[in-house]
Amino acid sequence: MKLFGTMEINNKGHLKIGGCDVVDLTNKYGTPAYVVDEDLVRERCKLFKSNFSYKKMDTEVIYASKAFLNIAMCQLVKEEGLSLDVVSGGELYTAIKADFPVEKIYMHGNNKTIEELTMAIEAGVGRIIVDNRQELELIESLCESLNSKVDVLLRVNPGIEAHTHEYIKTTKNDSKFGESIFSEEIYKIINRINNSSHMEFKGLHSHIGSQIFQEKSFYEQSEVMLKFVKKIKEKCDVRVKELNLGGGFGIYYSEGDTPMKLNEFLKNMLENIEDKAKELSITVPKIMIEPGRSIVANGGTTLYRVGGTKKTYGGKHYIFVDGGMNDNPRTALYGAQYEAAIANRMTESHEDIYTISGKCCESGDMIVKDINLPHPNVNDVVAVFSTGAYNYSMSSNYNRLPRPPVIFVKDKESRCVVKRETYEDLIKNDLAI
Ligand SMILES: *Cc1c(COP(=O)(O)O)cnc(C)c1O
Repeated sequence: MKLFGTMEINNKGHLKIGGCDVVDLTNKYGTPAYVVDEDLVRERCKLFKSNFSYKKMDTEVIYASKAFLNIAMCQLVKEEGLSLDVVSGGELYTAIKADFPVEKIYMHGNNKTIEELTMAIEAGVGRIIVDNRQELELIESLCESLNSKVDVLLRVNPGIEAHTHEYIKTTKNDSKFGESIFSEEIYKIINRINNSSHMEFKGLHSHIGSQIFQEKSFYEQSEVMLKFVKKIKEKCDVRVKELNLGGGFGIYYSEGDTPMKLNEFLKNMLENIEDKAKELSITVPKIMIEPGRSIVANGGTTLYRVGGTKKTYGGKHYIFVDGGMNDNPRTALYGAQYEAAIANRMTESHEDIYTISGKCCESGDMIVKDINLPHPNVNDVVAVFSTGAYNYSMSSNYNRLPRPPVIFVKDKESRCVVKRETYEDLIKNDLAI
């Protein structure tokens, strides 16, 4: 088990995050609760911002907000000087409400609705990432009726398979995202944008997957993309000024996960791009990346209370906690692995192999499978680590469970930044027949 950021164990054997005893946090805010180590998240933002630079290259780090987004997170990202990538009207709305600088917002999505595109154009977002030809025509006509102009990147599929889970692989040739760089159509699309009076072609976007550990995949992606940049110059006489290489940097969830040393890797990646561009005799475009998970995952911890345990006739030992797949669907969805601890008895030795399961009515409702823990007692606090990304943002009200609150901790202080949902919240949109 790995402790992250400001985590420590106090003399009572309790886990502390941001200087706060998690047992005190559960008494104050109840369980389940998402706790975010603010210092660690800020440190990760700084790590990307300070290391994603090389010589005089123009670069930009864009936080992929789908990993974890609310007003407080927008404010944090703004303070740390990162840009923001949004994939829906809801994410865009949150960013606008948080006063996030609109020119630093990148609007993504493979099927943006007319309402979403209108909202993005009217708000004046920095870039719209065009997914396909049809969308191009839609943006063109919307801009015409709104009498405005947008800067766009074209999302392309470079056909690279990064070693990652099937559902989070996005760049195989059959991926639903972007237009393939191998199709001849693509040059027509680029010409189409370039000749438009409502769109300014800024460059390209690609994203090769998530939870990637191999540096090689990113080098391969940069190389393929730079070659494509050259081809566009030759075939369309259009200069790609910006190259957005997406996110996907892997993080540590559990034993066997081997994240890249980002501080070295980010510089190496840029150096490599500069070298490749020289080799190909092309001008180095501005390079952007969009980390999501690697900014927030390790900074998040979910706290639950143990309701009971059960040893099945078949011999499986369950710990039942007061949350489940509604606050963390990743185990059920991807077979994700997490580390966890009994947070009020951190120094006790492990006794058995347990499966931490929730209270949802699904056999697949598991949070951590087969983990070594001390024997849990009713009311013990279970901490599940590295839940900062794709937990809160993927949560649901399945079984009409209210979503947990989000608590930021820092310097011995805690602040609730998203309130716990109430039963009243659950029915607020219900209408009687
Ligand atoms: C999801 C996504 C990201 C972020 O991926 P992480 O694995 O969280 O870093 C970045 N860019 C795009 C286009 C995405 O869809």
